[in-house]
Amino acid sequence: MPALTFSSVSKSFGSSEVISDFTAEIPDREFLVLLGPSGCGKSTMLRMIAGLIDISSGDLLFDGRRVNELEPRERNIAFVFQSYALYPHLTVRANIAFPLLMDRFRWWQHIPGIWSIERRRAMRLPEVARKVAEIAEIMELTPLLDRRPKTLSGGQRQRVALARALVRDPSIYLLDEPLSNLDAKLRSQMRIEISTMYQKVGKTFVYVTHDQVEAMTMGTRIVLLDGGIIQQQGTPTEIYERPANAFVARFIGSPA
Ligand code: ADP
Ligand code: MG
Repeated sequence: MPALTFSSVSKSFGSSEVISDFTAEIPDREFLVLLGPSGCGKSTMLRMIAGLIDISSGDLLFDGRRVNELEPRERNIAFVFQSYALYPHLTVRANIAFPLLMDRFRWWQHIPGIWSIERRRAMRLPEVARKVAEIAEIMELTPLLDRRPKTLSGGQRQRVALARALVRDPSIYLLDEPLSNLDAKLRSQMRIEISTMYQKVGKTFVYVTHDQVEAMTMGTRIVLLDGGIIQQQGTPTEIYERPANAFVARFIGSPA
């Protein structure tokens, strides 16, 4: 079963339609890149997947279930933005542990017999510590665990943000231009790190970018959007070798 299924998904803000008739299937464990120029609707797509905004029409299925019938926590999504949004007063360790600690302190988890599924999700403190250590190892943050964000480089901060996304073992990772605030050298390094993380965790990724190099090097599959309309979808090689139209050829830089 595909991780995500979009059937004729459209989204309008007032009278302007920013996503039109988006139909695609994202198989489980795919690294899907949503690619397109600024303003084409990429972030809107991610926000619909995350359930942060409603779809206007069509169907968006999560493992075969309608997205709006699921509680946000049932979707178990990790969302990484371009601004790292770390807590400046907390150490790296506490930043990474934060989502797990929040799980423990949700008031309704303390009502006996209710929300038993949710209650089971809250980790005990030694488990939290073990999980943080494991994730820090994967993201090569172990030597930095006691530092605070302001003493870290941009790339290190982004790694902490990724680590924080990892701790809950999400089934889907949504990343919205996570590298766009980094310089070119760091960007190419982080491309490799995110690809490595994808291979290690073996989950579904939806990665938004306007950068065709990121799309071609990281994606197992690409959906190219322009003006809210899918121009082409396929593997990087398919799109590069057989661009569907002049826009695709120009955007990807294929031999025309
Ligand atoms: P991208 O992420 O590809 O740059 P967005 O999804 O952010 O594009 O935006 C697509 C279009 O939708 C843009 O024209 C933007 O102005 C518009 N848009 C996005 N969010 C809203 C909103 N909340 N209200 C009105 N228009 C919006
Ligand atoms: Mg955007």
